[in-house]
Amino acid sequence: MTCALRVGGMVPLTTLDYPDKLACVVFCQGCAWRCRYCHNPQLTSPRGQHELPWEQVLAFLERRTGLLDAVVFSGGEATLQAQLPEAMAEVRQRGFSVGLHSAGIKPQAFARALSAADWVGFDVKALAEECAVITQVRGSGAVNWRSLDLLLASDVEYECRTTVHWQLIDPARLLILGQRLHERGVKRFVVQQVRSARMLDASLPDDVQPEALAVLWGRLGELFPVFEVRS
Ligand code: SF4
Repeated sequence: MTCALRVGGMVPLTTLDYPDKLACVVFCQGCAWRCRYCHNPQLTSPRGQHELPWEQVLAFLERRTGLLDAVVFSGGEATLQAQLPEAMAEVRQRGFSVGLHSAGIKPQAFARALSAADWVGFDVKALAEECAVITQVRGSGAVNWRSLDLLLASDVEYECRTTVHWQLIDPARLLILGQRLHERGVKRFVVQQVRSARMLDASLPDDVQPEALAVLWGRLGELFPVFEVRS
């Protein structure tokens, strides 16, 4: 008997979603936040129109044994599904490394998933006091940063990343965010430029990058052993 994880879609092969591993990505259905720039709005509702049965994902993995190194659970917010740790265990039993993309929406659920993960890509949405500007959910900053603390207290490998839409955060705030992450001991930080082509909030204009960001990137680069800007 396998678990009943709700899967909204899959990417069968990626070299970008788990460092140094060939992986597939399983997009878990459902999210409690409504980030204005979310580029997977079809995954936010609890049930999807084109869900894949979990058994089909496992059958795919059977065929990829020896060809794929890892499975990344992404979303949506994968940790909101109670079945996630069981699904992660099933994947690990089959010999794959287990990756997790999460914003830690519910810290207790995030902690359970963390214990089943080999690597986490953790979304730091914004400064804790300003997260709701992005997520449209009051209190989201406190839980986002609480889950970050749980991640940093664990020995699980990770990358922290912040998606930037320059209408929602300015360079000065992004630098303060970097300084706070540095103070908490974050070692690896990635700034991701938003994908404007499809966003949950259709009223949000295409992103326009401010000029002269080189100084900001330089200052952020001094704060972390690993710093990257990803477009
Ligand atoms: S970007 Fe925000 S709304 Fe979209 S899945 Fe991630 S946490 Fe949920």
